[in-house]
Amino acid sequence: MLLTITTTLAPATDLGFLLHKHPDRVQAFGQAFGTAHVFYPEADAARCTAALLLDVDPVKLVRTRGKSTPDFSLGQYVNDRPYAASSLLASAMAGVFRTAMRGRCELRPELARTAIPLEVTLPALPCRGGPERAEGFFAPLGWQVGAVPVPLDPGFPGWGDSRYVSLTLTGELRLADALNQLYVLLPVLDDAKHYWVAPDEVDKLIRAGEGWLAAHPDRAGITRRYLANRRGLVRTALGRLADSEDAPEDELDRDPIEEEPPAADPTAAEPGAAPEPDPEHTAAVPPVPLAERRVQAVLETLHAQRTPRVIDLGCGSGKLVGRLGQDRYFEKITGVDVSERALFIARRRGLQDDHGPDRVPRVELLQGALTYADERFRGYDAAVLMEVIEHIDPPRLPAVERVVFGDARPRVVVVTTPNSEYNVRYEGLAPGAMRHPDHRFEWTRAEFRRWAERVAADHGYQVRYVPVGDDDPDVGAPTQLGVFTR
Ligand code: SAH
Repeated sequence: MLLTITTTLAPATDLGFLLHKHPDRVQAFGQAFGTAHVFYPEADAARCTAALLLDVDPVKLVRTRGKSTPDFSLGQYVNDRPYAASSLLASAMAGVFRTAMRGRCELRPELARTAIPLEVTLPALPCRGGPERAEGFFAPLGWQVGAVPVPLDPGFPGWGDSRYVSLTLTGELRLADALNQLYVLLPVLDDAKHYWVAPDEVDKLIRAGEGWLAAHPDRAGITRRYLANRRGLVRTALGRLADSEDAPEDELDRDPIEEEPPAADPTAAEPGAAPEPDPEHTAAVPPVPLAERRVQAVLETLHAQRTPRVIDLGCGSGKLVGRLGQDRYFEKITGVDVSERALFIARRRGLQDDHGPDRVPRVELLQGALTYADERFRGYDAAVLMEVIEHIDPPRLPAVERVVFGDARPRVVVVTTPNSEYNVRYEGLAPGAMRHPDHRFEWTRAEFRRWAERVAADHGYQVRYVPVGDDDPDVGAPTQLGVFTR
C-alpha cells in the first residue's frame, strides 16, 4: 500500500524537516507485520513528494494475529488483503511519522503550525461506500477530493468496479492535521479494521481527532465506525468530543449518539463486532450532554450573582460567549483566548457582530494570555474560567491566580474543572488517564477545594461549590464548579 504526500511550499524540501525524514535518504522501518519504507520520488525547491510504502509480510501478519492489538486483527482478511490494509498503513504512519503527527518540529516550528499546500495520493484505497463516502469524509475538512473507483479488472469492464478507489486530496492544511485525518479516516473508510477494539482506541481517536473531528459533520458516523459500534465506547468518545473546545454550538443541543441509528452492517456479524446492548440508553428522554449542563450551570450562576458584564477567560471557540450573547441580560461580554485558532473559529461564528444601543460592540473577542496582568481584563462584574485551569502548567497557575483574583479582581469568579474521581465512570478511559490530551492535571474534589480555599484566602474572596452533571454518590459529579465572591 502506497501513500504519497506532496507540497509546493517554498522551499518544498522543508517537507523533510516537517516529517523528520531526510529527502536524500531511503529509510526502512520494521513493523510487527512487515516493513514501512519512506523515500522521496521528487525533492526540489519547487515540489517535494514523500512516499510511505508498506510492504506487508503475510507470515508476520499471521503470527501477530490473535495478539491483543486491534491493528493486527485482520482475521480472515489476512490472505487477500496484505497490500491494501488501511489499518496497517495507519499503524505504520503512527510509528514512522509520530513526531510530525504531534505537530512538532524543532527546526521549523512555525511551519509545523501553519497550513501548507498539500497533495495526498492513495492509488489503491479500500473504500466501502465508494467515492462518495471518501468525498463526504474529506471534503468538510477543507480538501478538494478526487476519488476514482478502481475497476475490478481493467480487461473486463463488464465486471464493474472494485471496492478500491484511487484517492487524491488537495488542500492547504497543517501537515499534522492531514496526517491525523488520514490516520483516523483510512481505516474508517476501509471499515474492515476492527472486530476487536481495545478501550484505549477512544484515547487514540480523541488525540488524533483533535482540532477537526469534533466539528466534522459526520463525527458520529466516523466515531461509530472507528470504534466498531461498541456503544459504550462510542458514547464516551462522542461525549468527550462534544466536550472539546472544537465542538460546534449545535452539538450541545442533542445527544450525539442518538443522531442516527447504527447502520445495518453485514460485517457486524463477525465475532465480537455485534453492537453491545446498552441498557442505560433506554430512557425515553435523551440525557443532556455534560458540555451543555456546564454552560447552563455557569449561566445560572451568573444570573444568580447579578453580573451583566462578563469576561470569559480562555473562551476557546466561543461556546459560552455565544450563549451569553443570546441572552440580552448580559450587557458586555468579552472572550479572551491565547489561541489564534480558537479565536478564528469563534469569529467565524459571527460572535462579534452584535452591537449595543450605543453601537458599542456588546460582544468582543480578544487575544491575550492569562499569565500576564492585562488592563483589558478589568471592569467586569464576573470572570469565568470554564475548563481552563487544567490546561495551565502547574508552575504557571500562580501567575493566572494573580492576574484574575489579584489584578482583574471582578466581584465574582466562576471556575469549572473536571473532577478526576469521576473518570472511573467513563468506559474506555484508562485508569489514571485524563479526559483530554491537553490537560496538564485533573483534580479530585478535595484537591480542587484545597486550591480554591487557598486562592480565596490569599485574595479576599469566599468560595462555594456546585456539582455539575449527575452527582454520583461515590465519585461525585463529572464537573466541579467553584463560585468565588467578594
Ligand atoms: N472555556 C472554553 C474552552 C476550554 S479549553 C470551553 O469551555 O469551551 C481551554 C482554553 O484555554 C483553550 O482555548 C486554550 O487556548 C485556553 N488557554 C490555555 N492557556 C491559556 C492562557 N495561558 N491564556 C489564555 N488562554 C489559555
